[in-house]
Amino acid sequence: MNYKQQLEVIQGLSIPPDTTIRMDCPFCHNKNTLSVDTTSNNIGWYCFHTSCSAKGKHQGEKNMNYVNNTFKKKEENLNTEFYVPDSFKILDSNDKAKKYIHKNNCWEAWSWGRADIKYDVKQDRVVFMIRHKQKAHEFVGAVGRALSSATYPKWYMYGNKDVPFICGLHEHNEAVIVEDCASACAVSNILTGVAILGTSLKQSHKQYLKQYDKIYVGLDRDATKKSYDIANELKSYGLQNVHVKPLSDDLKYFSTEEIRGIFYD
Ligand SMILES: [Zn+2]
Repeated sequence: MNYKQQLEVIQGLSIPPDTTIRMDCPFCHNKNTLSVDTTSNNIGWYCFHTSCSAKGKHQGEKNMNYVNNTFKKKEENLNTEFYVPDSFKILDSNDKAKKYIHKNNCWEAWSWGRADIKYDVKQDRVVFMIRHKQKAHEFVGAVGRALSSATYPKWYMYGNKDVPFICGLHEHNEAVIVEDCASACAVSNILTGVAILGTSLKQSHKQYLKQYDKIYVGLDRDATKKSYDIANELKSYGLQNVHVKPLSDDLKYFSTEEIRGIFYD
């Protein structure tokens, strides 16, 4: 089926705007393999089944809906229920997943219980669970990192997209904004890592960061301008003790001792 035919089928599903949904694929008929995203005034679709080539994206008109979504801060719902999929298995069940967390300095955070990390057998991802703010044993979402280059997207958000992935200890009074979950885990013995996952700063990030005495922005060196933009945004939000931390590499490539050196030497 070509792009136009696929688009017609997807449009025929009448999925409302601002929705991300997983459903049975109308093209290959596999169960729950099709992901459709109608946020940001787009329709994007992608089937995770390896034998299926369904994927595409269609940009809608920039209507008022789009304008409102872009410029008006949406009230963010932090209590959306999230059911942990059956395909999430313990980390020990997959060697690639274990290797990923070793190579990206998450092992310590995982073994000390600062992070809940699982393996999604269905999507072949190492999955970082997002804990409920008050109830540490409940989850509000998860972030999955693809373990093979054939899996798209590289980072996949399960459940609530407004709650940041955070890794740290209660006694920390300093936090660092990092690129991804692995970096948040890597820093978590020294200070609390808050992953922004390639997006801009959300209202929920800012609210969460208010509790810290000092905040660093520690994105990798390709994101220097973004780091300063984020620092300025936090300052205009009223947080004063904000510092951009220039880095030679992504924080996930540094050991705990190296990270201690980066922040406190
Ligand atoms: Zn399919």
